[in-house]
Amino acid sequence: MDVSRTLSSYQKIDDIVQLILTTGAELTNSQDCSLFLYDEETDSLRLVAASWFAREPDKRDILEDIHVPIGDSIAGWVYEHARPKISLHAERDPMMFRPLSEMLDTRVRSLAAVPLIFKGKAMGVVEIFNKYAGAFNNQDIAILATLASQAAMVIYNAHLLEKSEAAYEELAELDRMKSDFVAIVSHELRTPLGLILGHATMLQELADEAHQEQISVIVRNALRLKDIVEDLSAVNNMQTGQSRLRQNQVSLQNVIESAILKFGRMAREKQISLQSRLEQDHLFVQADEDKLNLILQNLLKNALTFTNRGGNVVVRAERFKDHIKISVQDDGIGIPQKDLHRIFDRFYQVESHLRRHHGGLGLGLAVARDMVELHGGRIWVESLEGRGSTFSFLIPVGAAEPALQIPLLTLHR
Ligand code: ADP
Repeated sequence: MDVSRTLSSYQKIDDIVQLILTTGAELTNSQDCSLFLYDEETDSLRLVAASWFAREPDKRDILEDIHVPIGDSIAGWVYEHARPKISLHAERDPMMFRPLSEMLDTRVRSLAAVPLIFKGKAMGVVEIFNKYAGAFNNQDIAILATLASQAAMVIYNAHLLEKSEAAYEELAELDRMKSDFVAIVSHELRTPLGLILGHATMLQELADEAHQEQISVIVRNALRLKDIVEDLSAVNNMQTGQSRLRQNQVSLQNVIESAILKFGRMAREKQISLQSRLEQDHLFVQADEDKLNLILQNLLKNALTFTNRGGNVVVRAERFKDHIKISVQDDGIGIPQKDLHRIFDRFYQVESHLRRHHGGLGLGLAVARDMVELHGGRIWVESLEGRGSTFSFLIPVGAAEPALQIPLLTLHR
């Protein structure tokens, strides 16, 4: 009881185990108490702590080399059978693993050991040796077993913590690598892509009728690449805190019309009706026009991509008190419920056979969300699989306060 009461006041796992072992030696009136854990790599028991550590800290250095074989030791037997054992004449016991006492320079005359069990599985052994008066008995075993179960819980929890810390570190490192990669790619692709586009556009003007189609394929695809690089740059700027708003009076009618114009060809090719419905013609906001364009274009591109031939896409804009709400509604394939909460994550794409042919990097919505939140607005989606999706966002009519440029809560419905 004393031990469990004291446990909560200890922070470090080493200290807790040390306390358990010292208590084990004291309560059983033994010279020392040691703890071994099973080591998968060497298939042996490794001495990890002992009550004599407190007295002889220098000896801890030789610990690394101490491995007790499973098949040839009392501790091994206790681990394997998950049962306690007492050896009253350890020096004559054929099962005794002698190198250990030699290494530690201690004569082991008698010992008792119990398995360290957690969730029904043995994970190690706790041993006491050399009782000062009398012989080891079942009461010693009972005391040791109680302490061992406390040690098992502490060690198991510490392992879990260690594992989750390691996993977190690994994820953080991967995330850093991903950010570096995004930064390099967006930067390094920009220049060659600009050259390709510039030259291809020039060739388009010079080329005869027969070559127009080929060159327009080059231009179209280079423009697609440019959109991807822009999304990558936007993500990178947001991550590095370089995103800034250049706010002006922006006509939403212009933004919507130019987006519809940009995707007119794609809509016609898929025979999708693409329309806009503005509550009134004169909707203005103080905003960054380039970023508004990017948001709407990313939403429109998705709506057209994920709507089947003959479908409908409608862009709406209406005023809500101090905000303008813009929505892009499609009657396309929709988004499964289980994916809705991740849809705005960077690099997230919905897996399904209906979408396999679709390229993209899973960045469009992440960029849209960043840009909306930079304006102090919000973005959300409502969708039913097989029926269609509506992406909506709110932009404040007035200029975003610098403080509001910090990302706000994202609504997913
Ligand atoms: P991508 O650039 O790959 O399209 P986005 O971030 O724009 O990435 O979109 C992420 C995913 O969300 C898409 O891959 C798609 O599966 C799903 N999605 C986005 N918009 C729609 C929509 N209008 N209808 C159905 N699914 C959509």
